[in-house]
Amino acid sequence: MTGVFAPTWLTEHNSYRVAAWAEACSFPKTADELIAALQESVGERIVLLGHGCNIILTRNHYDASFRFVSTKGLDMLAVLADGVVKAAAGTRLRDVCRAAAKAGLSGLEHVWDIPGSIGGAAYMNAGAYGASFYDVVESVEVFYPATGERAVLSRKQCRPSYRLTAFQGTDTVILGVTLRLPPAEPAVILHEMGRIGKLRRSKLPYNLPSAGSVFRRPEAAPPIGQIMEEAGLKGFTIGGAQISPRHAGIIVNAGAATGADILAVIEEMRQAARERYGVELVLEQVVV
Ligand SMILES: Cc1cc2nc3c(=O)[nH]c(=O)nc-3n(C[C@H](O)[C@H](O)[C@H](O)COP(=O)(O)OP(=O)(O)OC[C@H]3O[C@@H](n4cnc5c(N)ncnc54)[C@H](O)[C@@H]3O)c2cc1C
Repeated sequence: MTGVFAPTWLTEHNSYRVAAWAEACSFPKTADELIAALQESVGERIVLLGHGCNIILTRNHYDASFRFVSTKGLDMLAVLADGVVKAAAGTRLRDVCRAAAKAGLSGLEHVWDIPGSIGGAAYMNAGAYGASFYDVVESVEVFYPATGERAVLSRKQCRPSYRLTAFQGTDTVILGVTLRLPPAEPAVILHEMGRIGKLRRSKLPYNLPSAGSVFRRPEAAPPIGQIMEEAGLKGFTIGGAQISPRHAGIIVNAGAATGADILAVIEEMRQAARERYGVELVLEQVVV
């Protein structure tokens, strides 16, 4: 192994706080460094990490055939004229929401307090309360590792829908995002963000490590939390992984959970949905 890759613990780089050691990790600070790390890894198994708020690490040791590349250091945010906001992939979504509010720019209130990076939000089409990240995206800058090309894609080219984008299942790397936001009174925006923040904190288990909703919302069945409650699975625990007693659609790390514990609880949830409603739940979180 050469260059910028080094061994590190991934525990602080996944929001479940699953303990995992990886032999090859890179933490680039610029887009050029990121591209160099990717080009050094062409043909290898690259695992791109944003802030790790939507991933499940299933191994406690990743050998050097897994090349983890984190965007955390790509933290750049600029509020420009005419409601344009530019952010690099590793910038916290929360920081972008705060900066927009301060500048009197509306449109991000409903995604306020969703943990993670701008790149992660653009990959997952993060959303809440009927809004999604792509509602305000103008364009996304990407890098294609296989060809070494960069491109700027329109919102339409990213093909956003409920928690889906054109990037999922591909090796396309998001370098940054341009948003266009309409003006509004900062006090009104902040008031709405406060309301959303309180709502989230009252419902979601922010007190324990998790990665938010485990599954995509099923179309032909009640919300996952309700299914799990009906099945008596609230608080159900395997090893350190527990179906949150506060929100039964979320698995929390209640103490030294492993990826295997989380996967075992997921299987139990799937089984419950199958038995009660005949639905096959689709994982929202990304298994590594
Ligand atoms: C308490 C809690 C509450 C949550 N609530 C919500 C919610 O309300 N709504 C919601 O949608 N999500 C929610 N989530 C999940 C998570 O916050 C989002 O999915 C978030 O957008 C993930 O961003 P990330 O940077 O952490 O991505 P990561 O978890 O690091 O990565 C997720 C996927 O995106 C890919 N990826 C990341 N960055 C890039 C990039 N630059 N280019 C290409 N691919 C990339 C990764 O390879 C991986 O496949 C919640 C999570 C937690 C912990």
